[in-house]
Amino acid sequence: MAQIPLESPRVHGLNLDPETRCAHYHQPTDIIAIKMRCCGEFYACKVCHDALADHSLEPWPQSEWQAPAILCGACKTTLTIAAYLNCESSCPHCSAAFNPACRNHYHYYFSEAPSA
Ligand SMILES: [Zn+2]
Ligand SMILES: [Zn+2]
Ligand SMILES: [Zn+2]
Repeated sequence: MAQIPLESPRVHGLNLDPETRCAHYHQPTDIIAIKMRCCGEFYACKVCHDALADHSLEPWPQSEWQAPAILCGACKTTLTIAAYLNCESSCPHCSAAFNPACRNHYHYYFSEAPSA
């Protein structure tokens, strides 16, 4: 049983809401934030990263998909990339639904990710 961290990681983004939706992705299910490999910081989406970071985004290589780089905005649990890619679009911890359309963007964040 995973513990919910007392202090959830700080997430960067534009117009962030408490569940990490941002100016670009703000459907009810747009609640994950991703730790970027390039800077080790959580961002709501790659557009937020492009707007706020001073460098280009670097995708996670498949060999590092055990990194806890995905934050569920609903329960603030961090998932490994591998767990996220296999979670069937819902949080394994709190069952919150994730946007299945995120799949279309996996290649920006995770190299060699299976696309839809
Ligand atoms: Zn970065
Ligand atoms: Zn954004
Ligand atoms: Zn959750």
